[in-house]
Amino acid sequence: MDYKQHIKIVEDWPKEGIKFKDITPLMADGKAYKAAVDEIVTYAKEKEIDIVVGPEARGFIVGCPVSYALEIGFAPVRKEGKLPREVIKVDYGLEYGTNVLTIHKDAIKPGQRVLITDDLLATGGTIEATIKLVEELGGIVVGCAFLVELSYLDGKEKLKDYDVLTLMTY
Ligand code: 5GP
Repeated sequence: MDYKQHIKIVEDWPKEGIKFKDITPLMADGKAYKAAVDEIVTYAKEKEIDIVVGPEARGFIVGCPVSYALEIGFAPVRKEGKLPREVIKVDYGLEYGTNVLTIHKDAIKPGQRVLITDDLLATGGTIEATIKLVEELGGIVVGCAFLVELSYLDGKEKLKDYDVLTLMTY
């Protein structure tokens, strides 16, 4: 499947100099969206995962259908102040700006095999922070899956100790 035909590149958004990869046309095409999710489901089956974890908001778009297909749980990672119960948190740097990510303290049981999903790997800061949260709760990160990788930002270097699946590379 040629997924790239469904990605729109938006120049200078959200800031000058950024070439934003808009994945919404891929989601809008049912067959392309399903094909992308199916590839990640196949990967997740091989990894024998127990639970999917994804950072808001586009990590949900990729991870929730994988959870649904495998009849396993999904644990959301959210920005500070969004989750209603006791959380653990981590600071992280983005391609543009900084932020705090949180996860419910009881979201993952120690020893669970975790797949982390997001739409796009840029600098790797978001996923590195998500991995920290999962590992602090005792989860084992057995894979990370993305629709898009921006190889020129070297995010994979941050993930060199982990198995990574990406469906498109720029
Ligand atoms: P990183 O933390 O790897 O630098 O940035 C990745 C995070 O920022 C992801 O959660 C992703 O949703 C968002 N992001 C950064 N650049 C882009 C982009 O060009 N397109 C999309 N769709 N998301 C981006």
